[in-house]
Amino acid sequence: MRVSVFGLGYVGCVSAACLAGMGHEVVGVDVSQVKVDLVNAGRAPVVEERIGELVAEGVRGGRLRATRDVREAIAASEVSLVCVGTPSEPNGSLCTTYLERVTEQIGAALAERGGRHTVVFRSTMLPGTCLNLLVPLLEKHVSGVDVGVAVNPEFLREGTSVRDFFDPPKTVIGELDAASGDVVAKLYEGLPGDVFRVPVPTAEAIKYADNAFHGLKIGFANEFGAVCRALGVDSHQVMDVFLADRKLNISPAYLRPGFAFGGSCLPKDLRSLVHAAHRADVSVPILAHVLPSNADHLQRAVELVERTGKRRVGLFGLSFKPGTDDLRESPLVELAEKLFGKGYDLRIHDANVSLSRLLGANREYIETRLPHLAQLLADSVEEVLDHAEVVLVGTRDPAVLAALPHGESPVLVDLVRLPDAESRRAEPGYVGLAW
Ligand code: NAD
Repeated sequence: MRVSVFGLGYVGCVSAACLAGMGHEVVGVDVSQVKVDLVNAGRAPVVEERIGELVAEGVRGGRLRATRDVREAIAASEVSLVCVGTPSEPNGSLCTTYLERVTEQIGAALAERGGRHTVVFRSTMLPGTCLNLLVPLLEKHVSGVDVGVAVNPEFLREGTSVRDFFDPPKTVIGELDAASGDVVAKLYEGLPGDVFRVPVPTAEAIKYADNAFHGLKIGFANEFGAVCRALGVDSHQVMDVFLADRKLNISPAYLRPGFAFGGSCLPKDLRSLVHAAHRADVSVPILAHVLPSNADHLQRAVELVERTGKRRVGLFGLSFKPGTDDLRESPLVELAEKLFGKGYDLRIHDANVSLSRLLGANREYIETRLPHLAQLLADSVEEVLDHAEVVLVGTRDPAVLAALPHGESPVLVDLVRLPDAESRRAEPGYVGLAW
């Protein structure tokens, strides 16, 4: 199929490259010239396992290209996937500005093009957004008969997003009509997993069920882990047995006590869900306390550092989780900011963040949003180890794990439950957040 993908961020870039890998003819559209140029040069604008080779192969094979020209992309495609961001507004509500803008642009281009076209929204949005906000925007430009509309939420996890694309946990198609749903189903033909064809608002809501539950599970695991730690119990041993109970049939995903969660999805989706519930006068005390619980967990890590009494701190990991360069709402960024604000002498190393900065992909984000941390970034593991009296480990990057010292000094604060935590626990310098 001939596909245009709007937004070449984490979701859009992975979708575009993987669809090209499946043999579709794909044109990516982004407002960012840097991202467009990177894709056309055969380079991915995000750091993810396998994404670099997929983008390079797609461009080399003539199945993937990028442009800033909406009209040209619409003219060259029969289906458009909308993957623009839907961040939080300051009051926690869902920001639909980018969705509205791109929908208007697509509508205007479709009015010129004529012929059948299907617009598929992959961005996460609250139930009702598509039918009440976006469809009317499209209809301002084009009559409903020529344009199909579907909602197809994305369930990829950053760090394993290419793998998740080709082996999705499920495919959800919210269809305005059967013909629109058929187009989406055809697009993913050949991929494994169940396909659920549901009404549009149901598809929008399913994504929130996923993300709210993931946040809830992490919060539960971390709170439970903190209680265990205080009572001298190994929380992972508890969880191993708890999860082994087949009759409970609970997936272990997100249930391993570790560090706080973050990223561009879970916090903002919980926020907008709670905001929407409150606006509808629905009391949601459980959902409303997931983020405060997460903030408390982050504070526990700060307290562990304070208790060491040392001032020179090294931090390994800065992106919101391993395997990505994504810094948005990263709990490690927040931890670094708290320590920096308290006057700790900090050095930070994250190989994916350094690589992305070198390529230019996240350079602007670092310079504009994190200039105070930019000066603390070290390109090598050794630089951080040479500096630190306390080492905070927030990543499982093999290069970091291999270099971590043993013994009394530096003090090692383990945020992620290191693979060798069991044996390290006996060492005098080891402090584990998840014990
Ligand atoms: P992102 O910020 O990485 O990417 C969005 C891209 O859209 C940016 O490159 C931006 O320049 C571009 N853009 C904005 N307006 C545009 C326009 N008018 N035309 C073309 N491009 C435009 O966002 P993301 O992380 O890829 O997330 C996209 C959506 O998918 C969000 O709704 C998010 O909640 C959802 N989602 C994200 C993930 C994830 O893991 N990141 C997973 C599932 C769902």
